[in-house]
Amino acid sequence: MLKSLPLFITACALVAAQPSSISQKYSEPAQKLIAAALADQEGLARLQYLCDRIGNRVTGSASLERAIQWGAAEMKKAGFENVRTPPVMVPNWIRGKEFATLVAPIEKPLGMLGLGMSVGTPAAGIRAEVVIASSFEELTAMGRGKVAGKIVLFNPKWQGYGGTVMYRTGGASKAAELGAVAALVRSMTGVSLHTPHTGTLVYEENLPKIPAAAITLEDTAMIQRLADAGTPVTVLLKMEAHQGADVESHNVMGDIRGSEKPDEVVVLGGHIDSWDIGQGANDDGSGIMATMQAVALIKNLGLKPRRTIRVVFWVSEENGGAGGRAYAAMLGASMKNHVAAIEMDGGAEKPLGFGFGSGGEGRRRRPAGATPAAPAAAATSSAAFNRVVEIGKLLAGIEGGAISPGGGGSDIAPLLAGGVPGLGVRTVAAHYNDWHHTESDTFDKIVPREFQLNVASLAVMSYVLADMPERLSEMK
Ligand SMILES: [Zn+2]
Repeated sequence: MLKSLPLFITACALVAAQPSSISQKYSEPAQKLIAAALADQEGLARLQYLCDRIGNRVTGSASLERAIQWGAAEMKKAGFENVRTPPVMVPNWIRGKEFATLVAPIEKPLGMLGLGMSVGTPAAGIRAEVVIASSFEELTAMGRGKVAGKIVLFNPKWQGYGGTVMYRTGGASKAAELGAVAALVRSMTGVSLHTPHTGTLVYEENLPKIPAAAITLEDTAMIQRLADAGTPVTVLLKMEAHQGADVESHNVMGDIRGSEKPDEVVVLGGHIDSWDIGQGANDDGSGIMATMQAVALIKNLGLKPRRTIRVVFWVSEENGGAGGRAYAAMLGASMKNHVAAIEMDGGAEKPLGFGFGSGGEGRRRRPAGATPAAPAAAATSSAAFNRVVEIGKLLAGIEGGAISPGGGGSDIAPLLAGGVPGLGVRTVAAHYNDWHHTESDTFDKIVPREFQLNVASLAVMSYVLADMPERLSEMK
């Protein structure tokens, strides 16, 4: 053993002397970026402005267009180049007035929010008996005889957002297929203080479009108890929701230009639209403001990455993803020059790291912190994965650099589908779903230190990806 010690020491010295390790090479700029992010107040101030002075930002609204103009102006003020707002056609869904009331066995207003993109009810509303389904299988088993003319309430067991959201997105059409006149769904959350959660539904073609709304967990539980006791439950649902013609809106984008390879791009961002309630603070004001601030800090510190870093505020993520698709279409063949895409769309709680992958597994949004369903697709090699892990080590000091397979987000899904390596911010997600798509997604839920940690991890990851000699896609 003693004999081999000199050899061992020599080997250690060789390893230590190798300057090629990414985590060694970028240690100094990473420390500077982290320190700057943790001292930064500007990103938070912008997010507060967006929340309190502009407000929620559903597509088709004047406030969304104000946010877009303001966002572009802020990018210019921050020194971004090539700031532009390319047009995107987006849906123009209008909620209008709405309510749901239990009318039998007792009269009681229900905590509800109509689902995004839902049709409305007739002016007099829809009054019908409620039938409950805990799954699509149970609904199918009930058959037309028990469902036709009724309001179906979907009360599935909560299996996390990704495991339950299909009842919100697809429940209305499944109920309509059996003749239901409206659909209700328990809110997509595990925790409720009588808080209804909206979110989009998607109607299947060739089936009647029936109105649909989410109700609170508390009201769902009460209706379930009544039904379990064999008591007929009747609900009056009234919704003015309707769809206007699509309108022109915009993505917002700005660059810091690469010093050596300006045509190669690392893109990062989130979505600028929200639902028409709350402030869209976590979803996804935090994502657009944190990504913008991460890149502003890179610029402020005088770091000049080899490649261009671009921030994009995608539009219409909540109701169809037109912004993400338009961005990918705008790139066309030049998408191959996108070396990485990073999305933050899971709120600004304490970041744990990034999911990393490619090949489109990010097509459907997963909630932040959820276990990734798919391993890294073939398009990203294990060498590329190991490189991202190595970059993550630069974030060890803030415990924000854990890398897991399965990256992405719905705005960058079209890029991932085109082979661009994708990363999605992962957080502890302790409360994200409690606030998601509710009146409670407001600025007070943003913990300043946690927002700053997100800025830090985004700054380090995007800077190193834009500056390191190799592209992830070339690493075999
Ligand atoms: Zn979102």
